[in-house]
Order: sequence, then structure tokens, then C-alpha cells
Amino acid sequence: MVTMDEIVALCKRRGFIFQSSEIYGGLNSCWDYGPLGVEMKNNIKRLWWKVNVQLRDDVVGLDSSILMNPKVWEASGHLSNFADPMADCKVCKKRWRVDQLQEYKCPECGGELTEARMFNLMFKTFMGPVEDESAVVYLRPETAQGIFVNFINVQQTMRKKLPFGIAQIGKSFRNEVTPGNFIFRTREFEQMEIEYFVKPGTDEQWHKHWIEQRVNWYYKLGIRKENLRIREHGKDELAHYAKACVDIEYLFPMGWSELEGIANRTDFDLTQHQKYSGENLTYFDDETKQRYIPYVIEPSAGVDRSLLAFLIDAYEYQQIEKDDYRVVLHLHPAVAPVKAAVFPLLKKEELVKKAREIYNELKYKWIVQYDDSGSIGKRYRRQDEIGTPFGITVDYQTLEDETVTIRDRDTMQQVRVHIKEIIPYLEERIEV
Ligand code: ATP
Repeated sequence: MVTMDEIVALCKRRGFIFQSSEIYGGLNSCWDYGPLGVEMKNNIKRLWWKVNVQLRDDVVGLDSSILMNPKVWEASGHLSNFADPMADCKVCKKRWRVDQLQEYKCPECGGELTEARMFNLMFKTFMGPVEDESAVVYLRPETAQGIFVNFINVQQTMRKKLPFGIAQIGKSFRNEVTPGNFIFRTREFEQMEIEYFVKPGTDEQWHKHWIEQRVNWYYKLGIRKENLRIREHGKDELAHYAKACVDIEYLFPMGWSELEGIANRTDFDLTQHQKYSGENLTYFDDETKQRYIPYVIEPSAGVDRSLLAFLIDAYEYQQIEKDDYRVVLHLHPAVAPVKAAVFPLLKKEELVKKAREIYNELKYKWIVQYDDSGSIGKRYRRQDEIGTPFGITVDYQTLEDETVTIRDRDTMQQVRVHIKEIIPYLEERIEV
């Protein structure tokens, strides 16, 4: 299996991901997505949006602000639950607020405690010119609350009936105590979340539905089945408001770790916001003529973690012949940052002209590259390493019969295709 160091090195070498503010020595756990990283990230977000919003009649999108009224975080529990120094008992695993202890040991079993950690994960800042308590605002630690507070706005303007969902992609911030493992756990990251509102009593069935949907999304985009598993949270792990939660885990180089969480959050969030805001957040059910607060199923995925999983899953250091190796990313064409590269076989005027024509047409549809420097073999290898699924070569035959060769990244086999057929050929293999 590929190591994290190899992935980090490839990302830097080929322009996927750089250390943030690198020329100043970087900033712990912050990363910048380079030209290829941003394309891949956009692909992941688009592919998520397409199946979860575009293709579904029962889900609509939202883009709420990062800064919100601080009351939101009071209602959600983020302020009170995450605001204290906490330590865990090494023996019975109970968690304690350190500032309430008489002695630094477990009050229940007397066991040794871990080092205390500040548990308020929220980044605090000030709104406006005066830096006092009344001006405190927080960077959101999840996108979900922006959805809950817009539940009525969206439901009424879109005239949605249960069950329906609201999807959002955006940045979240957590002052993580132990960030690390490259982009796996950072303090600034991007989430893709859906809050799917359902009638109480139908929640378990919808929870199953979303687990299935989400696992299939990863499979469809090429994640190997043996590297994905579903882990149900035990009673001791469940958040106090959640009825059930499963994690989709991926076999990262550091071991099985969470890629996405899918929780049944019951009516907790809307009930809390109703209480704290004084607004009526109930839903009127036309069929039963009753008003109630819906239950909610929440599939919550990380963009960065998905990207990391796609890279790791795709990476291969492959022996082609004796003493001949290549690094190849077997990315699904839909996820790959560059869809095709166009090459003139040689840097000859008539070949260059034709290759440029093809390149100029393809770039209206996809991110493609043109490359005429170095041997054709070297050019193929450069594209293999960034996962470009198709290499299109213009040779002397092209000038006679308008055909090109298209090389498949994985098999390295070439087929001859008429220039007019290039777009349908690629479309069929890229679009999902
Ligand atoms: P973990 O236990 O790994 O900290 P979590 O259970 O706190 O994760 P959730 O609150 O369920 O995470 O967030 C949903 C998703 O958001 C996660 O599955 C992950 O993909 C992503 N995510 C959460 N925290 C981070 C982070 N610090 N860096 C990158 N992605 C994150």
C-alpha cells in the first residue's frame, strides 16, 4: 500500500497540494490546493451535487454564510459542549471536565486521566471594530446549522413536502487538538452535507437509504470495495441526541478512519432552534393534518478526506518491464483533474497545428492539456502520474485520414478514432 509520504510527495511534485504559506515556513495543518488539486476537488463537489441535488426531486441546495448569529451555537450545543478542558479516564474511558475535579484522577474509578484538552473547537473572532464580548462571532464548525436555521425559508419558498432534503457544500473550521495525517484532519476543511427531513417513524428506513446511497457513490467513482467499510457507532459513542450513526470508513495508510458520518439526529436540532429562536419550526402535514417537527437524517462527508481517499485508492507504482516503472493514478475519469492530453507525435508544424485545433475544441468541454515537449513516452508518463485517463496523439496518418490515436492510461492500449469521434468517445467514458 502507498504511504502517506508518497502521496504528500506526489501532491507537491505535480501541483495537487502545497503547504499553506510555505515560503514562511507554512502554517500547521493548513494546505493549499494547487492547479490539479482544485480541479479534482471541484470534480468531487460537482459529482456529489449532481447525484444528490440535480438528479433528485426531493433535495435542494443552499449556500449559507460561515459567520452566523452566535445564538445558533448556543442552540446547537456547540458553545456549551465544546467549551471546557476535558480529559478521559485511561481505565473506564469516562470523560470529565477537568475544571470541576477535586483531584486530577477519575472520580468514578480513580484511574489515571489523559492530558486535558480544550474542547471548544470553535474559532472565535470579532465582528466590527470593537473587540469585546458582545462582538464575538464564530467560524462555523459544520455547515449543518446553516441548513437547520433555513429550514422554514427553504421549505416554504420551494413548497417542499416531507420527505425532502437540503444540501450544502462549504468550508468549516475546527480548532482541532490533534490535526494531522496531511489533509485528513485539518483546522479548515470543506464539508458536503445533507439534512434530509422525514416524518418521525420513517427515519430508520431513510437512514438505511442514505447509507446505501452514499456507499454506492464511492463505489461508482472507483473506490475499491475492500477499502471501504461501514461501522455502526456503539451506544457509548453516540451523541446524546442521535438515535443511530454509522461511519463510512476508508482504509487510509494510518488505518481505518472516518470518511463520512451518516446520523439519525431525530428532531433535536430543529427543536433546539425552535426553543432558542422562539420561531415556530414545525411542519404541517397535509395528509394527517398534524403539525410536528421532522426527524432528520444527516449524511456528512468531507471533501478533503474524499479527495485523499481517491488519491490513495488510485495510486500505483507499477512495473511495466524489467527496470521500467511508472507511477500511475487510476482515478475514475470523472474525478481525474485533467481529462485528456493532446500531443503532436513530433514538434512539426503541421502536426502541432492539428493537435492545437483538437485541443482548442476539447477545452470547451473539459480541462485538457496540450504538450509537445520531450519524447512521446515521457509525455504519456507525465500524464499517467496525474491520472489523465486519455492521451490523444496526432501523427502523420492524422494528416491523411483525420484519425488520431487515443491511449488508455490504465491498459496503455491505443485505438484509432476519427477526429469527429473524439468527443463522443471521451464523453461516454467520463460522464457519470
Ligand atoms: P473525526 O471523528 O474524524 O474528527 P467527526 O466525527 O468529528 O470526525 P463529523 O463532525 O461527523 O466528523 O464531520 C463530518 C465529516 O466532515 C467527517 O466525516 C470528515 O469527512 C469531515 N471532517 C470533520 N472534521 C474534519 C477535519 N478536522 N478535517 C477534515 N475533514 C473533517
